[in-house]
Amino acid sequence: MSTRSEALADALDRMGLGSDAALVLHFPLRYEDETRITPVALARAGQPVQVEVEVTQSEVKFRPRRQLVVTAADDSGTVTLRFFNFYPSQQKQLAPGKRVRLFGDINPGFFGAEMLHPRVRTVGEDTALPDRLTPVYPATAGLSQASLRRAIDDALERTDLADSLPEALRRHYALVPFGAAVQALHRPRPGESLRDLDERLAPAWRRIKFDELLAQQLSLKRAHAARRNRDAPVLPQPADTDGSLIDRFLQQLPFALTGAQARAWAEIAADLSQPYPMQRLLQGDVGSGKTVVAALACLRAVEAGYQAAFMAPTEILAEQHFRKLADWLAPLGIQVAWLSGSLKVREKRAMKEAIASGAAPIAVGTHALIEDAVDFARLGVAVVDEQHRFGVRQRLALRAKAGDVSPHQLMMSATPIPRTLAMSFYADLDVSVIDELPPGRTPVLTKLIAAARREQVIERVRHACEGGAQAYWVCPLIEESETLQLQTALDTYEQLVIACPELKVGLVHGRMKPDEKAAVMADFVANRTQLLVATTVIEVGVDVPNASLMVIEHAERFGLSQLHQLRGRVGRGSRESACVLLYEGPLSQTARERLRVIHAYTDGFMIAAEDLKLRGPGEFIGSRQSGQPLLRFADLVIDEALVELAREAADTLLRDHVEAADRHLARWLAGREELLKA
Ligand code: ADP
Ligand code: MG
Repeated sequence: MSTRSEALADALDRMGLGSDAALVLHFPLRYEDETRITPVALARAGQPVQVEVEVTQSEVKFRPRRQLVVTAADDSGTVTLRFFNFYPSQQKQLAPGKRVRLFGDINPGFFGAEMLHPRVRTVGEDTALPDRLTPVYPATAGLSQASLRRAIDDALERTDLADSLPEALRRHYALVPFGAAVQALHRPRPGESLRDLDERLAPAWRRIKFDELLAQQLSLKRAHAARRNRDAPVLPQPADTDGSLIDRFLQQLPFALTGAQARAWAEIAADLSQPYPMQRLLQGDVGSGKTVVAALACLRAVEAGYQAAFMAPTEILAEQHFRKLADWLAPLGIQVAWLSGSLKVREKRAMKEAIASGAAPIAVGTHALIEDAVDFARLGVAVVDEQHRFGVRQRLALRAKAGDVSPHQLMMSATPIPRTLAMSFYADLDVSVIDELPPGRTPVLTKLIAAARREQVIERVRHACEGGAQAYWVCPLIEESETLQLQTALDTYEQLVIACPELKVGLVHGRMKPDEKAAVMADFVANRTQLLVATTVIEVGVDVPNASLMVIEHAERFGLSQLHQLRGRVGRGSRESACVLLYEGPLSQTARERLRVIHAYTDGFMIAAEDLKLRGPGEFIGSRQSGQPLLRFADLVIDEALVELAREAADTLLRDHVEAADRHLARWLAGREELLKA
């Protein structure tokens, strides 16, 4: 093998294009129209065109920098070409008298029409024009379009493009045959609409997107089914529930479960009594009361002689869960262990021993809980709060904790997942939804106020706090610099201390030690401080019912889900609540849109749907994928209807055409399954 083809093979490998199957599914990003020649004089500025010209002059100039400047003309006009990087071979190709076709943008320059680095093709008097649009592929350094095209063409010759779908199904969904779709995208037929291809509207694209979504559905549904083959501890409902641990817990709880909580718990309890691991997502808007439902799942494990792990993504949140659970469970005589990265070595060792011996029935903590050195004696239930904040790796590690038997997993999220996402990326999870807030909540009034009126806002907050309210003051997010963000928090704190001499003001930020943070939060919970200056560390989960006011500075810098999470910290008590969004102009289009949405909606699902439109799915599934996007062609916003169809088709295939499902998966997911299961 020559070194050149080895280099090519390497480059292809690096792009995951080592196989014919992969090459066939490597579709163009866009297309160029080289089927037509435009007279130089008629070329429109800023639009890619092809011209055919004869070189009249060619020289290398050194001012202002080294460049090859070529003058060329057709019957209609003259064009100047500039190359800042060029090889001697290019100089030869562009010697006076040569006839070339150029592809690129023509722009008006100082000396008339100019093309910068056009693509050059040497032609004779009557070289035929291609009759197909030219595909442009995603490529990488060391991989030219020409060699990629050749590799794909070769792969197309060798590969069986038989349809993976049964004919009847293909017709039912009005899909073009797979082979035809593939050919149409790689080698568009003459006269194919450039626009439909570029914008991925062509029927061939619809087929490819459908196939991609179908592969995702099949894979997730298979993963879902495969779970039944793994063992999990059976945690049955006791025959006599009266006086059971759970019964006693519910008796001494200061409130009754809402209908939605009871429903979610019933679904979870049913899962826990099965011999295979639960993998359930518990969704509920901020403040809907997910924690108590998770506590019930933990207790079911304890009742059956197993352990439960309760993980949260931040120290503050984990600590809060710990306090709440310890508080709830102390009367039942159940010890809750606390494990965080910041414990002293000796304390940590003691905790780990208690967990390993089984002496600690319930352990709460951050990701420290799934560090390798922590071994559970009999882990039955693992709760993961704010699951989208954990990485794939951490969740897999947690699953691995249990050894031969997998623990039941309960994942919780207050970031509502829009329907299309839930249907696609989370199709392997069972979902319970708490769609009802506990009684007595007051709707939060949201106000947008220009930062110029900050003084007035301080005055109002001060007044409200003097009247017995408590308030959060959230400092601006400064993404570029953590130091600057810290400084802003310190400055704000000092300003507010001076502006509100009658109030006790607290400060909490990400750089504080965990026990310092805990002390500040404890003061706020106990109403020893009335005004809490905070960075976004309070974004998730913090629960202080008496706090009824929130001011967010530079609200325009925050994302929608962040604003929603922050705002969810208030409106938890009986006091009328308000959230003031201070903003500073000029606002970008998206910032304006975000503020409009957060002002208009309080329902997390509505906000999430808007957010999906604004940002695309990446943010929602960030932790589910590791680098490589799982969907390359389909777009969950644009192709929502196709997701539905693919889901339905997946069920049909798995029921009636198992070999077809296998064929389809083999084609689409070679080497990618693991990613999808995480
Ligand atoms: P989230 O779903 O955001 O995690 P939490 O579990 O923190 O919500 O619950 C929010 C608050 O509501 C907590 O103070 C919790 O004790 C309280 N709560 C939960 N369920 C109920 C209920 N059924 N009735 C009254 N208060 C409840
Ligand atoms: Mg919570």
